[in-house]
Amino acid sequence: TNFWSTVPQGPPDPILGVTDAFKKDKAPNKVNLGVGAYRDENGKPYVLESVLKAEDILHQKKLDKEYLPITGEAEFVKLASELAYGKNSKPIQEGRLAVAQSVSGTGALRIASGFLSAHYNGPKTVYLPDPTWGNHVPIFENVGIKVQRYRYFDKKTVGLDFIGMKEDIKLIAFALQILLHACAQNPTGIDPTQEQWKELSELLQAKKHLALFDMAYQGFASGDIIRDAYAPRYFVEQGHQIILCQSFAKNLGLYAERAGTFSMVVSSAEEKERVLSQVKRIIRPLYSSPPIHGAQLVATILGSPELYEQWLGEVKKMADRIIDMREKLYNLLVELKTPGEWGHIKSQIGMFSFTGISAEQVQALADHAHVYMTKDGRISMAGLNEHNIQYFAESLSKAVK
Ligand code: PLP
Repeated sequence: TNFWSTVPQGPPDPILGVTDAFKKDKAPNKVNLGVGAYRDENGKPYVLESVLKAEDILHQKKLDKEYLPITGEAEFVKLASELAYGKNSKPIQEGRLAVAQSVSGTGALRIASGFLSAHYNGPKTVYLPDPTWGNHVPIFENVGIKVQRYRYFDKKTVGLDFIGMKEDIKLIAFALQILLHACAQNPTGIDPTQEQWKELSELLQAKKHLALFDMAYQGFASGDIIRDAYAPRYFVEQGHQIILCQSFAKNLGLYAERAGTFSMVVSSAEEKERVLSQVKRIIRPLYSSPPIHGAQLVATILGSPELYEQWLGEVKKMADRIIDMREKLYNLLVELKTPGEWGHIKSQIGMFSFTGISAEQVQALADHAHVYMTKDGRISMAGLNEHNIQYFAESLSKAVK
């Protein structure tokens, strides 16, 4: 019996599909600006020195491969939370931060959606920025949470539509779930300023909304992990019971290790136990318990003052190389007398830049110049380097002329 003859072909993943098209292209000068992974100055994947050292340390320890608890490796969970919230964060000191290790940032978001779907008392609707990381939509819809959008990107200024964002958050019903990118918003590379975060904190509090922070790029935005954690830390100081989804994929280059955390600020240590008992019930049928190796790597680095310092330097180096590429790309586009205003290339933050070019121009770049990016005109700045930036700038300039 064939059981599967009626299964329809699914659409290709909008981001991973770009890499497939790039791989098929045989041109030697092809450029892949689709994928959100750091590349070094020669366009190669980069393993951090601090990670290599941690690998050596772990190898020598000859640790066992026993199952982790459902909520993960205790030392990792502690150190990761301190990195996100700060050691002196009140919820940590008062024992009212409920944390579980997660299968990277995506897994954390999936625990969040599962938990909200089961236990959130307000309307089961999440508001996402428009635009946002594509995977946010099915992560919530798949558990029956309704997805709505708030305005975020202003096409005209290629900047933040802060007035529109506030209007939308003000107008919607009370007690909704508002997803916020903690820093280095994907795909736009545009973040609220610290003053704007303060206003948002007040606004969300007034409307009794739940702030759900997605922090996939701590350190990648400014090169400074404390500065990049400003928004969630400020919200916590102001008394928000935030949910935070933390990923170590980008800032430690641990993409495939799937190390992350899901955390919730709650009101008491007793409440934390109740909440965690339910978090475990979400995780157990999903994947039982998390993978160990990435968590051990992170704990080794965060737990060693020497490796921690080295890692901070490496994060800064990655962020600085991206900032340098922004500056160079901007200068080249101006030199090439490219029509339009390109200041946003320099002012945007993090791994991505939202170029503002049309879907047709994106297609033309792939067809004629072997340059690949997502349909929305987002480029991964990390894909640019000294060898390909001139070629990319010329191709982009040609495409918009
Ligand atoms: N959130 C955002 C905004 C992202 O851009 C990403 C990765 O691209 C993730 C979450 C999750 O990444 P991961 O599951 O690899 O940690």
